[in-house]
Amino acid sequence: MRLIELYKSVQGESTFTGVPCIFVRFAGCNLRCAWCDSTYTFHGGQPFTEDEVVAQIKALHCPLIEFTGGEPMLHARELLPLMHRLLADGRYTLMMETSGERPLGEVPTAVHKIVDVKCPGAGEAAGSFRMSNLDCLTPRDEVKFVLRDRRDYDFARDFIREHLAHRPLAAILLSPAFLQSPSPLRIADNMELDARDLVGWMLEDNLPARLSLQIHKFIWEPQKKGV
Ligand code: SF4
Repeated sequence: MRLIELYKSVQGESTFTGVPCIFVRFAGCNLRCAWCDSTYTFHGGQPFTEDEVVAQIKALHCPLIEFTGGEPMLHARELLPLMHRLLADGRYTLMMETSGERPLGEVPTAVHKIVDVKCPGAGEAAGSFRMSNLDCLTPRDEVKFVLRDRRDYDFARDFIREHLAHRPLAAILLSPAFLQSPSPLRIADNMELDARDLVGWMLEDNLPARLSLQIHKFIWEPQKKGV
């Protein structure tokens, strides 16, 4: 499998925010979201065998592992056996960040999936989310909307009401997009959408969702990699 990086930090988003975590970042993505903060994953990377990945994970001594990218499900042929092997070990909690464009039916149900639904501002909205993946969601899973503006919020609100509100999920996350060229300062003004506006809309609509700020972009400089 081709990886960009494998490192230990703390979870920056999701219901696991702040928890120490090993990140296994896969190379390549078949989407091109306008606000993507991982464009460095689109090309390159190094080949790893399953044994090499497992050895690196064991050396980091951390029970929480996130598979991310890029799009990890582009590597499903190698990733799914790796997931089964780590789950069989019994020591690990597994998470996966995915765009939801690839089919998720074969992902072990023990894996906590963080599934994006792309809003119009991503420039990938037309059919990028595979609607049949809704039936693969479990109570462990989280659905995330990255928002640039009010139009994105309206899209997310309508999608939540129509497709998610009745499903048992761990969380529905609303996350303001960050600027493509943020200041190196660790400040809220680097978010494209003012979180104060977003909170106001959520409360006004009584939306069953959770505000999610990417805390790693406040702990470190917003464009810092490997954190
Ligand atoms: S799916 Fe993720 S990695 Fe791919 S372009 Fe969108 S934000 Fe970037």
